Amino acid sequence: MRLLISPCTQLLTLCGSPLPRRGPRQADLSIIQQGAVLIEGEVIQGIGSAEEVERDLKGLPVERISAEGCVVMPGFVDSHTHPVFVQPRDDEYELRIKGTTYQQIAERGGGILSSVRAMRNCSKEKLLQATLRRMSQFLEHGTTTVEAKSGYGLDLENEVKMLEVIRELAQITPLELVPTFLGAHEIPVEFRSHPEDYVDLVKNQMIPFIAERKLARFCDCFVEPHLFSLSDAEQICSAAQRHGLGIKLHADQLSRSGATQLGVRLGAVSVDHLEQISQEDIKALQQTNVVATLLPGSVFHLGLDRYAPARALIDAGVPVALATDFNPGSSPTLSMQMILSLACTQMRMTPSEAIVAATMNAAHALLRSGSVGSLEPGKQADLSIMQVEDYRQIPYFFGMNHCKMTIKKGQIVYQRPN
Ligand SMILES: [Zn+2]
Repeated sequence: MRLLISPCTQLLTLCGSPLPRRGPRQADLSIIQQGAVLIEGEVIQGIGSAEEVERDLKGLPVERISAEGCVVMPGFVDSHTHPVFVQPRDDEYELRIKGTTYQQIAERGGGILSSVRAMRNCSKEKLLQATLRRMSQFLEHGTTTVEAKSGYGLDLENEVKMLEVIRELAQITPLELVPTFLGAHEIPVEFRSHPEDYVDLVKNQMIPFIAERKLARFCDCFVEPHLFSLSDAEQICSAAQRHGLGIKLHADQLSRSGATQLGVRLGAVSVDHLEQISQEDIKALQQTNVVATLLPGSVFHLGLDRYAPARALIDAGVPVALATDFNPGSSPTLSMQMILSLACTQMRMTPSEAIVAATMNAAHALLRSGSVGSLEPGKQADLSIMQVEDYRQIPYFFGMNHCKMTIKKGQIVYQRPN
Protein backbone atom coordinates (compact mmCIF):
# COMPACT_ATOMS: atom_id res chain seq x y z
CA MET A 1 0.00 0.00 0.00
CA ARG A 2 1.16 3.50 -0.85
CA LEU A 3 0.50 6.37 1.53
CA LEU A 4 1.05 10.01 0.56
CA ILE A 5 1.22 12.70 3.23
CA SER A 6 0.74 15.94 1.33
CA PRO A 7 0.86 18.84 1.77
CA CYS A 8 2.89 19.15 4.99
CA THR A 9 2.98 22.82 5.97
CA GLN A 10 6.39 22.22 7.57
CA LEU A 11 8.26 18.98 6.96
CA LEU A 12 11.23 18.36 9.28
CA THR A 13 13.29 15.75 7.43
CA LEU A 14 16.56 15.85 9.40
CA CYS A 15 18.08 14.29 6.32
CA GLY A 16 21.74 14.61 5.46
CA SER A 17 24.76 13.30 7.29
CA PRO A 18 24.38 9.89 8.94
CA LEU A 19 26.63 11.02 11.82
CA PRO A 20 25.41 12.28 15.21
CA ARG A 21 24.72 16.02 14.97
CA ARG A 22 27.09 18.15 16.97
CA GLY A 23 27.96 21.83 17.37
CA PRO A 24 26.12 24.07 14.86
CA ARG A 25 24.66 20.97 13.12
CA GLN A 26 22.79 20.10 16.32
CA ALA A 27 20.25 22.68 15.08
CA ASP A 28 19.94 21.34 11.53
CA LEU A 29 16.36 20.18 10.88
CA SER A 30 16.53 20.22 7.04
CA ILE A 31 13.06 21.75 6.69
CA ILE A 32 10.92 21.59 3.55
CA GLN A 33 8.04 24.07 3.46
CA GLN A 34 4.95 22.62 1.74
CA GLY A 35 6.56 19.19 1.63
CA ALA A 36 5.32 15.67 1.04
CA VAL A 37 6.27 12.15 2.12
CA LEU A 38 5.52 9.06 0.05
CA ILE A 39 5.45 5.78 1.98
CA GLU A 40 5.44 2.35 0.44
CA GLY A 41 4.88 -0.53 2.84
CA GLU A 42 7.02 0.08 5.92
CA VAL A 43 9.50 2.38 4.24
CA ILE A 44 9.80 5.97 3.04
CA GLN A 45 9.89 5.98 -0.74
CA GLY A 46 10.07 9.66 -1.58
CA ILE A 47 10.40 12.99 0.15
CA GLY A 48 10.53 16.54 -1.18
CA SER A 49 8.31 19.43 -2.06
CA ALA A 50 4.64 18.50 -2.49
CA GLU A 51 4.92 19.47 -6.15
CA GLU A 52 7.95 17.21 -6.83
CA VAL A 53 6.62 14.19 -4.97
CA GLU A 54 3.17 14.44 -6.61
CA ARG A 55 4.81 14.77 -10.05
CA ASP A 56 6.98 11.69 -9.48
CA LEU A 57 3.89 9.69 -8.58
CA LYS A 58 2.80 9.77 -12.23
CA GLY A 59 -0.80 9.10 -11.32
CA LEU A 60 -0.15 5.88 -9.32
CA PRO A 61 -2.95 5.09 -6.84
CA VAL A 62 -2.26 6.29 -3.30
CA GLU A 63 -4.04 6.77 -0.03
CA ARG A 64 -3.78 10.44 0.88
CA ILE A 65 -3.40 12.22 4.21
CA SER A 66 -3.37 16.01 4.35
CA ALA A 67 -1.06 17.65 6.88
CA GLU A 68 -2.15 21.15 5.94
CA GLY A 69 -1.49 23.46 8.88
CA CYS A 70 0.71 20.83 10.54
CA VAL A 71 4.34 20.01 11.23
CA VAL A 72 5.39 16.54 10.08
CA MET A 73 8.50 15.17 11.75
CA PRO A 74 10.28 11.89 12.54
CA GLY A 75 8.65 9.97 15.39
CA PHE A 76 10.36 10.77 18.69
CA VAL A 77 13.04 8.33 19.80
CA ASP A 78 12.94 8.12 23.61
CA SER A 79 16.34 6.64 24.37
CA HIS A 80 16.15 6.34 28.19
CA THR A 81 13.07 5.02 30.04
CA HIS A 82 12.04 2.72 32.88
CA PRO A 83 8.45 2.02 31.75
CA VAL A 84 7.97 -1.44 33.29
CA PHE A 85 6.73 -0.85 36.85
CA VAL A 86 3.72 -2.02 38.80
CA GLN A 87 2.35 1.16 40.34
CA PRO A 88 3.01 4.90 40.57
CA ARG A 89 4.64 6.42 43.66
CA ASP A 90 2.36 9.41 44.16
CA ASP A 91 2.52 8.99 47.97
CA GLU A 92 6.25 9.76 47.85
CA TYR A 93 5.55 12.70 45.56
CA GLU A 94 3.43 14.27 48.29
CA LEU A 95 6.03 13.48 50.97
CA ARG A 96 8.72 15.19 48.92
CA ILE A 97 6.57 18.26 48.41
CA LYS A 98 6.21 18.42 52.20
CA GLY A 99 9.99 18.36 52.60
CA THR A 100 11.21 14.76 52.83
CA THR A 101 14.17 14.25 50.50
CA TYR A 102 14.54 11.52 47.87
CA GLN A 103 17.44 10.06 49.89
CA GLN A 104 15.40 10.05 53.15
CA ILE A 105 12.56 8.24 51.38
CA ALA A 106 15.04 5.68 50.06
CA GLU A 107 16.49 5.16 53.56
CA ARG A 108 12.98 4.35 54.86
CA GLY A 109 12.60 1.59 52.26
CA GLY A 110 10.78 3.75 49.75
CA GLY A 111 12.06 4.90 46.39
CA ILE A 112 13.37 2.29 43.98
CA LEU A 113 13.11 -0.40 46.67
CA SER A 114 9.33 0.02 46.94
CA SER A 115 9.09 -0.52 43.17
CA VAL A 116 11.29 -3.61 43.65
CA ARG A 117 8.97 -5.09 46.31
CA ALA A 118 5.94 -4.56 44.08
CA MET A 119 7.78 -6.06 41.10
CA ARG A 120 8.76 -9.20 42.97
CA ASN A 121 5.14 -9.73 44.08
CA CYS A 122 3.65 -9.21 40.64
CA SER A 123 2.97 -11.99 38.16
CA LYS A 124 4.24 -11.64 34.61
CA GLU A 125 0.66 -11.42 33.28
CA LYS A 126 -0.28 -8.65 35.69
CA LEU A 127 2.92 -6.77 34.88
CA LEU A 128 2.16 -6.98 31.18
CA GLN A 129 -1.33 -5.58 31.76
CA ALA A 130 0.02 -2.76 33.96
CA THR A 131 2.48 -1.76 31.24
CA LEU A 132 0.46 -2.18 28.06
CA ARG A 133 -1.51 1.08 28.32
CA ARG A 134 1.73 3.04 28.70
CA MET A 135 2.91 1.75 25.33
CA SER A 136 -0.14 3.30 23.63
CA GLN A 137 0.46 6.54 25.51
CA PHE A 138 3.95 6.81 23.99
CA LEU A 139 2.39 6.49 20.53
CA GLU A 140 -0.32 9.05 21.39
CA HIS A 141 2.46 11.55 22.17
CA GLY A 142 4.31 10.98 18.90
CA THR A 143 6.98 8.59 20.16
CA THR A 144 7.68 5.60 17.92
CA THR A 145 10.87 4.05 19.38
CA VAL A 146 11.58 3.61 23.09
CA GLU A 147 14.49 2.18 25.04
CA ALA A 148 13.15 0.23 28.02
CA LYS A 149 15.21 -0.76 31.03
CA SER A 150 14.83 -3.51 33.59
CA GLY A 151 16.08 -2.71 37.11
CA TYR A 152 13.15 -3.18 39.49
CA GLY A 153 13.70 -6.92 39.92
CA LEU A 154 17.28 -6.98 41.24
CA ASP A 155 17.43 -10.76 41.14
CA LEU A 156 17.76 -13.07 38.17
CA GLU A 157 14.15 -14.24 38.12
CA ASN A 158 12.59 -10.78 38.30
CA GLU A 159 15.06 -9.04 36.00
CA VAL A 160 14.36 -11.74 33.41
CA LYS A 161 10.61 -11.32 34.03
CA MET A 162 10.88 -7.61 33.23
CA LEU A 163 12.91 -8.19 30.08
CA GLU A 164 10.50 -10.89 28.91
CA VAL A 165 7.60 -8.48 29.42
CA ILE A 166 9.46 -5.90 27.29
CA ARG A 167 9.92 -8.55 24.60
CA GLU A 168 6.21 -9.45 24.68
CA LEU A 169 5.17 -5.79 24.58
CA ALA A 170 7.33 -5.35 21.48
CA GLN A 171 5.43 -8.18 19.82
CA ILE A 172 1.92 -7.02 20.71
CA THR A 173 2.23 -3.24 20.29
CA PRO A 174 3.46 -1.27 17.26
CA LEU A 175 5.92 0.62 19.48
CA GLU A 176 9.55 -0.35 18.80
CA LEU A 177 11.24 -1.28 22.07
CA VAL A 178 14.98 -1.53 22.66
CA PRO A 179 15.67 -3.51 25.85
CA THR A 180 18.39 -2.59 28.34
CA PHE A 181 19.48 -4.67 31.33
CA LEU A 182 19.79 -2.50 34.45
CA GLY A 183 20.41 -5.04 37.19
CA ALA A 184 22.84 -2.51 38.68
CA HIS A 185 20.08 0.00 39.50
CA GLU A 186 20.14 -0.35 43.29
CA ILE A 187 21.61 -2.75 45.88
CA PRO A 188 18.79 -5.14 46.88
CA VAL A 189 17.99 -5.37 50.62
CA GLU A 190 19.31 -8.90 50.95
CA PHE A 191 22.79 -7.77 49.78
CA ARG A 192 23.08 -4.56 51.82
CA SER A 193 25.71 -5.98 54.18
CA HIS A 194 27.78 -7.53 51.35
CA PRO A 195 27.11 -5.52 48.16
CA GLU A 196 30.20 -6.91 46.41
CA ASP A 197 28.37 -10.24 46.16
CA TYR A 198 25.55 -8.51 44.27
CA VAL A 199 28.07 -7.09 41.78
CA ASP A 200 29.37 -10.64 41.30
CA LEU A 201 25.83 -11.92 40.77
CA VAL A 202 25.15 -9.25 38.14
CA LYS A 203 28.33 -9.88 36.17
CA ASN A 204 28.73 -13.64 36.58
CA GLN A 205 25.14 -14.87 36.41
CA MET A 206 22.65 -12.26 35.24
CA ILE A 207 24.63 -10.85 32.29
CA PRO A 208 25.58 -14.23 30.75
CA PHE A 209 22.02 -15.57 31.17
CA ILE A 210 20.37 -12.47 29.69
CA ALA A 211 22.87 -12.04 26.85
CA GLU A 212 22.59 -15.68 25.82
CA ARG A 213 18.81 -15.37 25.49
CA LYS A 214 19.17 -12.02 23.68
CA LEU A 215 16.87 -10.37 26.21
CA ALA A 216 18.83 -7.10 26.14
CA ARG A 217 20.73 -4.99 23.61
CA PHE A 218 22.43 -2.75 26.19
CA CYS A 219 23.63 -2.92 29.77
CA ASP A 220 23.31 0.09 32.06
CA CYS A 221 24.66 0.85 35.54
CA PHE A 222 23.64 3.51 38.08
CA VAL A 223 27.03 4.87 39.12
CA GLU A 224 26.87 6.68 42.49
CA PRO A 225 29.22 6.30 45.47
CA HIS A 226 26.43 4.88 47.69
CA LEU A 227 25.26 2.46 44.94
CA PHE A 228 27.79 1.21 42.40
CA SER A 229 31.35 2.57 42.44
CA LEU A 230 33.43 3.27 39.35
CA SER A 231 35.21 -0.04 39.89
CA ASP A 232 31.88 -1.94 40.24
CA ALA A 233 30.62 -0.27 37.06
CA GLU A 234 33.80 -1.08 35.17
CA GLN A 235 33.57 -4.78 36.11
CA ILE A 236 29.87 -4.94 35.19
CA CYS A 237 30.34 -3.09 31.88
CA SER A 238 33.36 -5.16 30.88
CA ALA A 239 31.39 -8.36 31.51
CA ALA A 240 28.51 -6.95 29.45
CA GLN A 241 30.84 -6.06 26.59
CA ARG A 242 32.37 -9.54 26.60
CA HIS A 243 28.82 -10.83 26.12
CA GLY A 244 28.11 -8.48 23.22
CA LEU A 245 25.99 -5.84 25.00
CA GLY A 246 26.44 -2.13 24.33
CA ILE A 247 27.04 0.16 27.31
CA LYS A 248 24.96 2.99 28.73
CA LEU A 249 25.56 4.65 32.08
CA HIS A 250 23.54 6.66 34.61
CA ALA A 251 26.43 9.09 34.99
CA ASP A 252 27.14 12.02 37.29
CA GLN A 253 23.50 12.52 38.24
CA LEU A 254 23.41 13.05 42.02
CA SER A 255 27.15 13.49 42.53
CA ARG A 256 30.19 13.77 40.29
CA SER A 257 31.31 10.16 40.32
CA GLY A 258 33.52 10.21 37.24
CA ALA A 259 31.16 7.92 35.32
CA THR A 260 31.13 10.16 32.24
CA GLN A 261 34.88 9.66 31.80
CA LEU A 262 34.49 5.94 32.52
CA GLY A 263 31.90 5.82 29.72
CA VAL A 264 34.38 7.46 27.35
CA ARG A 265 37.12 4.97 28.33
CA LEU A 266 34.81 1.99 27.85
CA GLY A 267 33.39 3.24 24.54
CA ALA A 268 29.85 3.57 25.91
CA VAL A 269 27.11 4.29 23.38
CA SER A 270 25.75 7.02 25.65
CA VAL A 271 26.28 8.60 29.05
CA ASP A 272 23.02 9.76 30.58
CA HIS A 273 21.96 12.50 33.07
CA LEU A 274 25.25 14.50 33.49
CA GLU A 275 23.76 17.10 35.87
CA GLN A 276 27.02 17.26 37.87
CA ILE A 277 29.67 17.02 35.13
CA SER A 278 32.74 19.26 35.10
CA GLN A 279 34.56 21.08 32.32
CA GLU A 280 37.05 18.18 32.16
CA ASP A 281 34.21 15.73 31.62
CA ILE A 282 32.94 17.83 28.71
CA LYS A 283 36.47 17.89 27.30
CA ALA A 284 36.66 14.09 27.60
CA LEU A 285 33.46 13.76 25.56
CA GLN A 286 34.74 15.97 22.73
CA GLN A 287 36.05 14.08 19.68
CA THR A 288 34.22 10.91 20.75
CA ASN A 289 31.00 9.41 19.44
CA VAL A 290 29.55 8.99 22.94
CA VAL A 291 26.13 10.64 22.97
CA ALA A 292 25.35 12.87 25.97
CA THR A 293 21.73 12.02 26.84
CA LEU A 294 20.10 14.68 29.01
CA LEU A 295 17.03 14.00 31.14
CA PRO A 296 15.57 17.30 32.37
CA GLY A 297 12.29 15.63 33.42
CA SER A 298 13.85 14.19 36.57
CA VAL A 299 15.38 17.53 37.64
CA PHE A 300 12.01 19.21 37.13
CA HIS A 301 9.94 16.55 38.90
CA LEU A 302 12.28 16.36 41.90
CA GLY A 303 12.09 20.15 42.20
CA LEU A 304 15.85 20.55 41.81
CA ASP A 305 17.54 23.38 40.01
CA ARG A 306 20.78 21.95 38.63
CA TYR A 307 20.13 20.92 35.04
CA ALA A 308 22.83 19.36 32.87
CA PRO A 309 24.99 21.94 31.05
CA ALA A 310 23.41 21.43 27.62
CA ARG A 311 24.69 24.73 26.24
CA ALA A 312 28.32 23.98 27.17
CA LEU A 313 28.05 20.46 25.73
CA ILE A 314 26.62 21.65 22.41
CA ASP A 315 29.08 24.54 22.17
CA ALA A 316 31.91 22.04 22.79
CA GLY A 317 30.69 19.91 19.88
CA VAL A 318 29.33 17.01 21.93
CA PRO A 319 26.25 15.36 20.35
CA VAL A 320 23.32 15.82 22.75
CA ALA A 321 20.20 13.64 22.96
CA LEU A 322 17.09 14.16 25.09
CA ALA A 323 14.91 11.50 26.72
CA THR A 324 12.06 11.36 29.23
CA ASP A 325 13.67 9.01 31.80
CA PHE A 326 10.03 7.88 32.26
CA ASN A 327 9.91 6.15 35.68
CA PRO A 328 7.63 6.18 38.73
CA GLY A 329 10.09 7.88 41.11
CA SER A 330 11.87 10.78 39.51
CA SER A 331 10.31 11.41 36.09
CA PRO A 332 6.73 10.24 35.60
CA THR A 333 6.22 11.68 32.12
CA LEU A 334 6.36 9.93 28.77
CA SER A 335 5.85 13.15 26.81
CA MET A 336 8.87 14.04 24.71
CA GLN A 337 7.06 17.30 23.91
CA MET A 338 7.22 18.28 27.59
CA ILE A 339 10.91 17.36 27.62
CA LEU A 340 11.48 19.71 24.66
CA SER A 341 9.86 22.54 26.65
CA LEU A 342 12.12 21.86 29.65
CA ALA A 343 15.20 21.61 27.43
CA CYS A 344 14.42 24.97 25.87
CA THR A 345 13.49 26.99 28.94
CA GLN A 346 15.67 25.34 31.59
CA MET A 347 18.75 24.31 29.58
CA ARG A 348 18.65 27.03 26.89
CA MET A 349 18.60 24.61 23.98
CA THR A 350 16.91 26.12 20.93
CA PRO A 351 13.75 24.36 19.69
CA SER A 352 15.64 23.02 16.66
CA GLU A 353 18.53 21.69 18.80
CA ALA A 354 16.02 20.02 21.10
CA ILE A 355 14.17 18.33 18.22
CA VAL A 356 17.43 16.97 16.76
CA ALA A 357 18.27 15.71 20.27
CA ALA A 358 14.90 13.95 20.52
CA THR A 359 15.07 12.26 17.12
CA MET A 360 18.34 11.81 15.17
CA ASN A 361 20.81 12.01 18.06
CA ALA A 362 18.57 9.79 20.19
CA ALA A 363 18.57 7.23 17.36
CA HIS A 364 22.38 7.28 17.57
CA ALA A 365 22.12 6.72 21.33
CA LEU A 366 20.34 3.44 20.49
CA LEU A 367 22.50 2.48 17.47
CA ARG A 368 19.36 2.72 15.33
CA SER A 369 20.28 5.73 13.19
CA GLY A 370 20.24 3.56 10.05
CA SER A 371 16.49 3.00 10.36
CA VAL A 372 14.94 5.76 12.52
CA GLY A 373 15.50 9.37 13.60
CA SER A 374 15.12 11.12 10.23
CA LEU A 375 12.77 11.05 7.23
CA GLU A 376 14.78 9.80 4.26
CA PRO A 377 14.12 7.34 1.44
CA GLY A 378 14.87 3.80 2.58
CA LYS A 379 14.33 4.52 6.27
CA GLN A 380 11.38 3.24 8.30
CA ALA A 381 8.25 5.34 7.82
CA ASP A 382 8.06 6.43 11.48
CA LEU A 383 6.58 9.88 11.79
CA SER A 384 4.33 12.09 13.79
CA ILE A 385 2.00 14.83 12.62
CA MET A 386 1.83 17.74 15.05
CA GLN A 387 -1.08 20.15 14.95
CA VAL A 388 1.04 23.32 14.97
CA GLU A 389 2.11 25.47 12.03
CA ASP A 390 5.69 25.97 13.15
CA TYR A 391 7.94 23.48 14.98
CA ARG A 392 8.82 26.08 17.62
CA GLN A 393 5.25 25.92 18.86
CA ILE A 394 5.78 22.31 20.01
CA PRO A 395 7.87 23.37 23.04
CA TYR A 396 6.30 26.85 23.20
CA PHE A 397 2.77 25.59 23.96
CA PHE A 398 4.04 23.51 26.88
CA GLY A 399 2.31 20.71 28.74
CA MET A 400 0.00 20.07 25.79
CA ASN A 401 -0.12 17.13 23.41
CA HIS A 402 0.09 18.44 19.85
CA CYS A 403 0.23 15.01 18.25
CA LYS A 404 -2.59 14.49 15.79
CA MET A 405 -1.40 11.28 14.14
CA THR A 406 1.43 8.79 14.61
CA ILE A 407 2.64 6.48 11.85
CA LYS A 408 4.90 3.51 12.65
CA LYS A 409 6.44 1.48 9.82
CA GLY A 410 3.90 2.92 7.41
CA GLN A 411 0.85 2.13 9.56
CA ILE A 412 -1.37 4.68 11.28
CA VAL A 413 -1.03 3.62 14.91
CA TYR A 414 -2.64 6.66 16.54
CA GLN A 415 -5.15 9.17 15.29
CA ARG A 416 -6.65 11.85 17.52
CA PRO A 417 -10.44 11.58 17.54
CA ASN A 418 -11.99 14.69 16.02
ZN1 LIG B 1 17.10 6.49 34.41
